[in-house]
Amino acid sequence: MTDDNGQRSSAAPAGPRGLLIVMTGASGVGKGTLREQWLAEQDVFYSVSWTTRTPRPGERPGQDYHFVDAEHFLTGIGKDGFLEHAEFAGNHYGTPRGPIEAALERGQDVVLEIEVKGAMQVRQATSEAILVFIMPPSLTELRRRLEGRATENPEQIERRLNRAHEEILEAHAFDYVVLNDDLTRAVADMHAIQRAERARSSRISPDELSRIVES
Ligand code: 5GP
Repeated sequence: MTDDNGQRSSAAPAGPRGLLIVMTGASGVGKGTLREQWLAEQDVFYSVSWTTRTPRPGERPGQDYHFVDAEHFLTGIGKDGFLEHAEFAGNHYGTPRGPIEAALERGQDVVLEIEVKGAMQVRQATSEAILVFIMPPSLTELRRRLEGRATENPEQIERRLNRAHEEILEAHAFDYVVLNDDLTRAVADMHAIQRAERARSSRISPDELSRIVES
């Protein structure tokens, strides 16, 4: 960033922008576990969503979600406070806009873990988003995982499976697909995507090229 005299301004970022990586896919596909393992020991900014869903046992407010009532959520929409928001299985979920740009600007990678409609909105909102679809081995396996975690009643499980069916058929709309049949391999795939995206030629600034040829 330069000022009117072509001088580097003090607001210039120190290095390249962070990556904006959006993990998406069906409820129950294991996005959360995959994300936790992938991001362990990495200094990335994980975006904590707002939701009107009631907390599950063991969920930590402010770390897993910001749990809010519908009125509060609608205020956030009204103030354009969300990068994206969607209704899912009877509840609202949204990504607060504010902290994300700040993290990207300071060069920190940002990770969102959201459902498919929200991921599509992020794609519309910004061309820099990298969309990764997490694929279950099968719908039967997805049902087994949803039933196994026992956090939804049978009707809610059916709603989530119906939604998953639609979402899987949209997988081609994303930049990458990671099959979550083997966690270790899926984690390795996430690292590979992150590394490849960091190495994109479009991320090298003219300043960096000058520095290399002049040193
Ligand atoms: P759960 O109720 O199981 O925590 O989440 C239901 C679905 O909503 C999951 O697929 C989860 O990834 C997604 N989700 C969580 N936060 C957000 C968000 O901020 N926006 C959108 N669009 N989806 C979200």
